[in-house]
Order: sequence, then structure tokens, then C-alpha cells
Amino acid sequence: MTEDSWRSPTPTERALVERWAREWNTATGDDVAIHSRLQVRRSCSCGCPTFSARPLAVNPDLAKERPLRVEGTALRSDGTVAAGLIVFALDDNALDFEVYSLDEKPVALEDVTFVYIDDPA
Ligand SMILES: [Zn+2]
Repeated sequence: MTEDSWRSPTPTERALVERWAREWNTATGDDVAIHSRLQVRRSCSCGCPTFSARPLAVNPDLAKERPLRVEGTALRSDGTVAAGLIVFALDDNALDFEVYSLDEKPVALEDVTFVYIDDPA
């Protein structure tokens, strides 16, 4: 698989990362900050919006689990569930935001709202 090169995030990607970081910090007591020069790159070639983002320095003691324990569910504007989000810690201060569709249609990040859950049962 060829990987895309790093680039600036779209406003939607940045908002998703910022929102995730808020939820993560609240849930774990971590202090993840979003760098002004945040970079992202598409990390899956199947057509889904899954992407990696860096730099995102997660406290390694809090990030031992893979995936990290704050996950998101993506809702369409009509409230139906479209997709899920799992965040994985990568090496080199990067996180992978894996967006998996719940039906055949790929999800556009712009079309959904992520609702975060802590400690999914
Ligand atoms: Zn994919």
C-alpha cells in the first residue's frame, strides 16, 4: 500500500482531532495538545476517510491499550448511525483515526457528527 504524504488537515479533520483530544483528556486526565502545524495523511486506500495525524503526544502510560479507549460513533444528520471511529496510537507521536463504515457506502467526514463514548462495554 502506498501512503499519502503528510499535508495540512481539512477543517473537518482538524475539528475531529480536536474533539477527540478533548474527550481523551477528559476521560484520562491526559494533556494532549493540538499543534498549530498539525499534519494528516490518508492511511487507508479503500476510499474511507481514515487518516493519521501528527504530532499528537499521548501520555504513553495512558495509551498502552490499542485501540485507545475513547471511541466515536458517527451519526448522519437524520440521527442514524453511519460509522464508527477507533483511534490507535502509532509510533512517532502519531495517532490513526480509523473510520469504519457500517454499510456499503463510504462515509464522508463532512456528513457526520461524532459522538464519543468512554469505556465501551
Ligand atoms: Zn479504508
